[in-house]
Amino acid sequence: MPMTLALGTSAQTVRAAPLLLIDLETEQGITGRTYLFCYMPIGAALVARVLAEALGAIKGERIEPTHIGDHIGEKTGAKLARHFRLIAVSGVVGLALSALDVACWDALAIAAGKPLVEFLGGARKAIPAYNSNGLGLMPQEKLADEAEKLLEGGFRAVKLRLGYPTLAGDLAAVRAVRKRLTHDVAIMADYNQALTVEEALERGRALEGEGLAWIEEPIEHDDYAGCARIARELATPIQVGENFEGPNAMAAAIAAQAADYMMPDLMRIGGVSGWLRAASLAAAAKIPLSSHLLPEVSAAVLAFSPTAHWLEYVDWAAAILAEPFGVVNGSITPPDVPGSGVSWNEEAVRKYRME
Ligand SMILES: [Mg+2]
Repeated sequence: MPMTLALGTSAQTVRAAPLLLIDLETEQGITGRTYLFCYMPIGAALVARVLAEALGAIKGERIEPTHIGDHIGEKTGAKLARHFRLIAVSGVVGLALSALDVACWDALAIAAGKPLVEFLGGARKAIPAYNSNGLGLMPQEKLADEAEKLLEGGFRAVKLRLGYPTLAGDLAAVRAVRKRLTHDVAIMADYNQALTVEEALERGRALEGEGLAWIEEPIEHDDYAGCARIARELATPIQVGENFEGPNAMAAAIAAQAADYMMPDLMRIGGVSGWLRAASLAAAAKIPLSSHLLPEVSAAVLAFSPTAHWLEYVDWAAAILAEPFGVVNGSITPPDVPGSGVSWNEEAVRKYRME
């Protein structure tokens, strides 16, 4: 999907979103659906190969929720984790199994005739969203214009990418956006792992007075000790989590006190099953929980999460959805339809299809 606004991170600029659409067809006639953002086109091809292998392992099995310890899990997921254990359930395999898990939960909720959040035992409610489209690394004037545009739809929060070559560049970008927006608009900042611990401390201290809602992934995502030092020394909250591969990674980050806030990605944390564990971990540690990408399904699982914080909104899939998820007053409410509410606008899918 072409992106309305390019995503210019400190690591790379992305102008089109490679989305893999998944229809999980059941013998009951119910189709569970989701889509997966694959980061780069080859990601979609690789995930599709893993999914083909995964389906070979579970074809004909029942999809049913089951209890694993205190959590609701899903039997086919446990079987697949075993099937792929030797190659490791992470990276491309992790993305594929997470996506399959989301499609399974969608099918289960549809079979029960309930919105996904209600099927999980929660209630449909509005989740505040920040507009995460655009605001990549770019000249200041363009940045301020783009930030202002992002408030359409009633958004009261936006996310700015940082990691300019100099500290002065970061400060100028934050100030340019802040100057254009009113003071009740929250500004999140994401370094996409650009800094060393020392640089993060220096830049973080310089940004303390700018009123940022959080500083996201300042350093390598899995350096939890480094993250913890930054979180301890800065007053601005530190946010990490989009790279947690499964709930155990999140548990380790919590044990290390790596961040004030956490934001797992449904497609890396293990789908809905993984999210349920993550939500319990966050609740026990009293950590505000936000989502990463996939806003449509994330709204449902956040509505279920005791410490729900912010929903990350991107519009990448909007054009191919039969019923785009409306943003009202800057919030998204899970739709009142069975399942997650994800289904395709077939004509648009044909138009954007990659062969
Ligand atoms: Mg991020």
